[in-house]
Amino acid sequence: MSVGHGNERLANAICEQAKNIIHISNLYRIPPQEELAEILVSHYGKGGVFFCNSGAEANETALKIARKYGEVEGEIKRYKVITLENSFHGRTISTLKATGQPKFHQYFGPFPDGFDYAKDIKDIYNKIDEKTIAVMIELIQGEGGVNPFDKDEIQELANELKKRDILLIVDEVQTGIYRTGEFYASNLYEITPDIITLAKGLGGGVPIGAVVTRLTDVLKPGDHGSTFGGNYLSTRAGIEVCNILKEEKESNRLKNRIEYFENKLLEIVKEFPNLFNEVSGYGLMRALKTHSTNIRDEIVKKAFEKRVLVLKAGSHSVRFLPPLTISFEEIDEGFDRLKDALMKVEE
Ligand SMILES: *Cc1c(COP(=O)(O)O)cnc(C)c1O
Repeated sequence: MSVGHGNERLANAICEQAKNIIHISNLYRIPPQEELAEILVSHYGKGGVFFCNSGAEANETALKIARKYGEVEGEIKRYKVITLENSFHGRTISTLKATGQPKFHQYFGPFPDGFDYAKDIKDIYNKIDEKTIAVMIELIQGEGGVNPFDKDEIQELANELKKRDILLIVDEVQTGIYRTGEFYASNLYEITPDIITLAKGLGGGVPIGAVVTRLTDVLKPGDHGSTFGGNYLSTRAGIEVCNILKEEKESNRLKNRIEYFENKLLEIVKEFPNLFNEVSGYGLMRALKTHSTNIRDEIVKKAFEKRVLVLKAGSHSVRFLPPLTISFEEIDEGFDRLKDALMKVEE
């Protein structure tokens, strides 16, 4: 919930829009859709946007762009997409297949062909062959445990892929829209991927997904579409979220909050060395790495009893994704409660 619950500006924007037009057919121009697209592109470079309703749908769209690009460009058809182990890309049939965690692949096969998994960024080079059309990665694996990749390695990958005309798709469904402190995590890593996918933080809770890309004429009218994607209501919400957070960023309030939150996490590691090794992540996408899965599960349970909601991620991480507008008082209260909970955790 990037701007928290009951955010007055967002609520007003949604109400005003709802009193006018919520939805029309996408056969007609939708001005707030164009305005939100301009905001998303302004942090990217030259490109365009396709709107949909969720992260999985945004990734499906990215895969379709890549597959068609591989079909129409070059002499041989290229279709293979490489993703990473421990990744998470969604819950539709092909984004499940793209997700590099075997536990997600039970029950739902047969899956579409043409996916392969690399162990880490370096291993991607071993997996590339003449059929490879795209590499899809998160810059900070969210569900995988809040694992940021090395900036130099990512920049080198982006350069290498460009030389080989292989598309770089960055899944920013979790990292996008200031979650790391920058508009895109790609801004933080100083890369311009061929495709960026977005969803979670963009609508402030109103369902919306987006695909930002320089490849604006690969998909032609009729190749792809969405009934509700980019409608008046969701894009109005998206504009307001971006405007609110832009002010938080430019006033340095976001930066101050991030530092304050980070210091609290570092304190916890120092105070409870029996439970934790280290802090990971960027911005307000953070984790405390615990010594074991058991300890981690116990912490999440005890925190819940103290009415603090923290998430499990990967095998060892306690994950934190607070609103980007969280107050210092709320941070204090959350960590006080968390500490109470930690005192009750048995190793
Ligand atoms: C949550 C998430 C998705 C899936 O988004 P949905 O809106 O649930 O479909 C995809 N990729 C990443 C990195 C995510 O964190």
